[in-house]
Amino acid sequence: MSETDKPETVLLAHGSGGSLSHELVAGRVLFRISTEATPTLDDSAVVEMHGCIAFTTDSYIVDPLFFPGGDIGRLAVCGTVNDLSMVGAIPRHLSLALILEEGFPLQSLDAVMRSVGDTCREAGVDIITGDTKVVNRGKGDGLFINTAGIGLVPDGRHISGKLARPGDRILVSGSLAEHGLAIMAAREGLAFSSAIRSDCAPLNGIVGALLEAMGDAVHCMRDPTRGGLGTTLNELASQSRVAMLIDESAIPVRPDVRAACEMLGLDPMYVANEGKFIAIVEPSRAEAALRALRVHPLGKNAVDIGEVVAGRPGRVMMRTHLGPTRLVAMLSGELLPRIC
Ligand code: MG
Repeated sequence: MSETDKPETVLLAHGSGGSLSHELVAGRVLFRISTEATPTLDDSAVVEMHGCIAFTTDSYIVDPLFFPGGDIGRLAVCGTVNDLSMVGAIPRHLSLALILEEGFPLQSLDAVMRSVGDTCREAGVDIITGDTKVVNRGKGDGLFINTAGIGLVPDGRHISGKLARPGDRILVSGSLAEHGLAIMAAREGLAFSSAIRSDCAPLNGIVGALLEAMGDAVHCMRDPTRGGLGTTLNELASQSRVAMLIDESAIPVRPDVRAACEMLGLDPMYVANEGKFIAIVEPSRAEAALRALRVHPLGKNAVDIGEVVAGRPGRVMMRTHLGPTRLVAMLSGELLPRIC
């Protein structure tokens, strides 16, 4: 093939394992995602790690692939970095698997790989192994990504959704519902789409700062992604066999986001986030935890939204603006498909 007929889109042969596959990986992927530890291209990556290891995986099928505030590449790194961070692990190494559809523009692949590399460098993680497959035209939807990640859990650190105790305070690191709304707006071509950006961000930096300041006063952490805050609090309350009481007036939602949610008939309590987390902490240390969160750029708007209480296990109640409390149920059904 001469220089002039270089393909501009993904061909089935890019997934053959032959020369075009090698060209794709070497010429379009590796140098864009490279960090200190470049993949060796052996059948497995070999790394030295001592101690307790956290391991997670997630697949990304977001539609559209590019949206205000991010793209599928940034999401695929942040999602896995954040899941490792939520158990107190220090994210280290990721895998990156691409499922490409025949006909997908190579320029778009370049943009996504650039974003993967930039986000890895921002989060301080390396991609050390990966895979590329190509499916026939019409059998995929452009690009799907899977990332898995491993991180080191420091000695003695124990953070789990099972560890909330009555009296604990429930903190949220910032304003909610921006990721889901940005995707929805981009998908529907809505006029406010430029103003509302996804909050997609790696949380390992802010979590590290919080844990350094708080030690074992942090009992649980979780990022309210699919299903939003409402669903995630229900999960934590069930797992810890406790009840929760939160204040509607304390729940941080930007006025423009709230207005857009109202217009679209969405409850911000159930809209996905990709750069926020819930921390459930020892009551006597809640103020200190808020201070530690607020000094970090991703935690400027951190707030205390309520408390863990003794009560029917798994029940989440909310004190409303008008005074009475109401039940916060888990999201049933699908609010927004293909959000991450
Ligand atoms: Mg998570």
